Amino acid sequence: MANRYDRQLKIKQIGTVGQEKFEDSHVLVIGVGGLGSFVSSELVKAGIGEITLVDFDDVELTNLHRQNLYIEKDVGTNKLEAMRNHLQQANSNVKINIINKKYSVDILSAEYDLVIDCTDNFPIKYQINEDCQKLGLKHIFGTCAANQGQVMFIDQNSACLECLYPKETIDKLGLSKNIGTNPMIVAITGSLQASMALKYLTNPKNIEFGSLIVVDNWNFDFRKIHVKKRKDCPLEVSK
Ligand SMILES: [Zn+2]
Repeated sequence: MANRYDRQLKIKQIGTVGQEKFEDSHVLVIGVGGLGSFVSSELVKAGIGEITLVDFDDVELTNLHRQNLYIEKDVGTNKLEAMRNHLQQANSNVKINIINKKYSVDILSAEYDLVIDCTDNFPIKYQINEDCQKLGLKHIFGTCAANQGQVMFIDQNSACLECLYPKETIDKLGLSKNIGTNPMIVAITGSLQASMALKYLTNPKNIEFGSLIVVDNWNFDFRKIHVKKRKDCPLEVSK
């Protein structure tokens, strides 16, 4: 029988060894809206061992243009149940867990090899950043609005979200609920987060933590910016 992962096994940086590590991994995805839909579907289809999804919303009609996998008959039903159902049909080998509640620190644990922030809410993003830094968990920040997406892989030695955007500047950030979202930027941004996850889980040494990827799908710019850790980062000062 053909191996379902045949084409990715042929990628020399993945191969059988990388795939086995990937299949041994457990990832926590916080938020299964736009970014979370792409991140989780790509990781599940690529054969991640176990994935835990966190959310508390129902599917709305206005979600369907950018939130991959949800279909019209899901509208009005629980997002996590709908997502698990679609994901499990895509790959029955993957263990899929759901946590139906708002994010709080008690959701985090050393059980996870990686945390992926797919929320669309900056106060929660800062909380995830702070909690992951304090607990020694690595996490992938991602956000998108209008035609721009941003992704950064954060660990304890790299710049964090507070170094990138000090919390007091939060009001200046464009939020998707105010300025809209180009549906295709969600796919690109989520796919970048999933790509970083795949690269890290197949070989953790490969990752450049603290590099911000900025992509614009109207001007077609793609930039990588090294973000410096702030000496006065509040998370550093409190250590
Ligand atoms: Zn920081």
